[in-house]
Parts: sequence; structure tokens; C-alpha cells
Amino acid sequence: AITLQLKDIRKAYNIGLPAETEILHGIDLIIKRGEFVALIGPSGSGKSTLLNLIGLLDKPTSGELFITGQATTQLQDRELTMLRAKSIGFVFQFHNLLPEFTALENVMLPMLAARGRPDEAIGVRAAELIEQVGLTSVGKHMSNNLSGGQQQRVAIARALVMQPALVLADEPTGNLDTQSADTIFDLLRRVNQTSNTSFIIVTHDPRLAKRCDRIIELVDGRIDSDKPNVAES
Ligand code: ADP
Ligand code: ADP
Repeated sequence: AITLQLKDIRKAYNIGLPAETEILHGIDLIIKRGEFVALIGPSGSGKSTLLNLIGLLDKPTSGELFITGQATTQLQDRELTMLRAKSIGFVFQFHNLLPEFTALENVMLPMLAARGRPDEAIGVRAAELIEQVGLTSVGKHMSNNLSGGQQQRVAIARALVMQPALVLADEPTGNLDTQSADTIFDLLRRVNQTSNTSFIIVTHDPRLAKRCDRIIELVDGRIDSDKPNVAES
């Protein structure tokens, strides 16, 4: 099954009339269910722009983008928000946890947003996720009292709680020391292998990219190379 398909996706920013600058020049891409993909490329090559389009946070100038087979470019904002909440999990370097809420509460939030009111199942599901990321002992701690690595694990649990088809991770280990970065990466990999969720991980760290199944390199708004990672053993 195909998780994500991009057909001739272009993105231009308006930088004051009449000039328009095209940043992405016709991206074609298919990500299949369960793929674990690294997205690399020099600064300014368009990685964040591409990730924002895939995450339905911004709209392409032209082209079509399918999430689990559903065409997205003609959807209204409300429909996009619903599709995003259902299908896509986000993990960012700066994880935007609510500091005055507990780890468990942070994980419950997307479910509360989706269902509108608290119920017992939400608490049970959040506890399962917190256990899966190894944080049961600190589930009731305020998120701002957790270490950087622990906070990132909460963010991962939050990203997974709606069982998304696709997780987008932008420098997920960017502000962590090597050991915490490895723990986080192992966790993403394990989730990928047990749930068959597809991952796209933007990283500047060649060591992490080499542990992905496929490496896509963006240069100047085009896919410069896209290869299975033969180094992966
Ligand atoms: P990367 O994530 O690979 O560093 P970006 O997607 O952030 O690349 O940026 C690609 C190019 O798009 C850069 O030249 C950047 O200046 C430009 N850019 C990004 N966002 C905007 C915007 N909102 N308006 C105009 N130009 C932008
Ligand atoms: P909208 O503004 O379209 O209503 P929301 O702001 O409610 O969308 O966000 C919906 C989901 O998308 C949330 O789960 C949120 O985590 C994610 N999201 C939205 N914007 C961003 C962003 N800039 N960075 C990371 N995640 C985001």
C-alpha cells in the first residue's frame, strides 16, 4: 500500500509582486507503507518546505499530493486539519509540549481534540503509549521537569497516539547528546517495525541517515538522489 504520493509538486513563495521564487521544482515521490526514510540535503534545499507540504501545513503551488490514497489539494482547511490529525504524526526538534501539563496529559491532548470530551479509553491509551516509550515512572511528572530526551519521548508518544499512517520527524534528535539521540532513534525504529508506520526523518546527521532504509537527498529544490540504503545491515 502507498502511504504518500507526490506528483509534480511545486512550491513558490510570493516575495512581493511580481516576483515569485520557486523553491520546489516538480517533486515526484512515492513512500510505501512501513518505509523508514531519511530526507537529507544542504541548508536551504527545501526540506522544511517539503515537510510542511507533506504535513498538510502548507499548500503546493501546483501538483497533487495523496495521503493514503486521498487527494489533498482541493480539500478545505477544515478537511485538511481532520486528515492531518488522523493520518500524520509530527515529531520536531523543539517538541512544543505544554510545560504545565503532565507527560500523560500531553499524550492525551490529540485524542481530546479529536473526541471533544474526556473518557476512560483516552487515559488507558495514553498510559499504553507512555509505557511504550519507557516513561511509566514519570507519566505524572510535569513535562517541564523531564530531561530533553524524556520530553522527546513524550512528543513521540503524542505523535503516535492517533495511530498515524505517516510520522514526520524534523531533526528529532537535533538537540540531544549522542546517547539520548541513539535511544530516540532506536525508539522510532522499533515503532516503525512493530506498527508498520511510515517515517520521514529530516536529519543532518549522516550517522542516523545511514540507519534508515532509504535516503532521499534534496538539492536546490529537486530530488538529487533517492536510493535504498545498502549500508543498512
Ligand atoms: P531547508 O529546510 O532545506 O533548509 P527550507 O525549505 O527552509 O530549506 O528553505 C528553502 C528555501 O525557501 C530557502 O531559500 C528559504 O529562504 C526559502 N523560504 C522558506 N520559507 C519561505 C517563506 N515563507 N517565504 C519565502 N521564502 C521562503
Ligand atoms: P489548524 O491551524 O489547521 O487548525 P492545528 O494548529 O490545530 O491546525 O494543528 C493540527 C495538528 O497539526 C496538531 O496536532 C499539531 O500538532 C500539528 N501542527 C500544526 N502546526 C504545526 C507546526 N507548525 N509544527 C508542528 N506541528 C504542527
